[in-house]
Amino acid sequence: MINIAIDGPGGAGKSTVAKILAKYLGYIYVDTGALYRTLGLAIDRAGRCPDSEEDAKKVCQNVTLELKYVGDSQKVFLDGEDVSELIRTPRISNYASRCSALPWVREFLLETQRSIASKNHVIMDGRDIGTVVIPEAQIKIYLHADVEVRAHRRYLELKEKGSDVTYESVLEEMKERDIRDSTREIAPLKRADDAIDVDTTKLDLEQSIKLITGIVEERLKYVL
Ligand code: C5P
Repeated sequence: MINIAIDGPGGAGKSTVAKILAKYLGYIYVDTGALYRTLGLAIDRAGRCPDSEEDAKKVCQNVTLELKYVGDSQKVFLDGEDVSELIRTPRISNYASRCSALPWVREFLLETQRSIASKNHVIMDGRDIGTVVIPEAQIKIYLHADVEVRAHRRYLELKEKGSDVTYESVLEEMKERDIRDSTREIAPLKRADDAIDVDTTKLDLEQSIKLITGIVEERLKYVL
């Protein structure tokens, strides 16, 4: 199986680029952040604390979490309910980031991710895909951009969905999440030694897609 890992902080363009690239290559796109977000939502709905391993265990043992592919898009289901859109709020970003620092939660979601990658050609995006989930991935990309630029992109996305947020609050939340994700003890956000570094600060979406598609096509020549 061909596995392509795309890691990096929020707002770098990972999911948009990965989705388009997966469609182009005919691979499955796996958004691993959606798994952490769904657990964050489950913890929130249960009124539990996202920093408590005990709370996370209790919640996980009582819910079912499924990834399904409808056409070429990934959907996440919590107890049979499609929560793919509900998990895209700043509150759930925060809950996801907090519960994802818990070792038990990471272990709980590891096998699901590895199993998909072992059975399919995938483009999987997240924080620890190239370092922990599929260190044997044939192509690894570390996608990043300056935090102000990432926050601006996320702000526009949320505004378009009708969310009542300010740029400043999105920037603060993003900075906080960057720090938490990259300083946690287990599977922190970091570039794998063999990942190709791509900075999208000065690139628009079209340019990012073009650049990454070029990199992947070039690498695939040596892999296939
Ligand atoms: O990618 P996304 O922003 O949807 O991820 C939400 C949160 O889930 C991240 O801030 C991070 O804390 C966590 N996450 C993770 N490992 C991954 C994917 C996401 O810890 N592979």
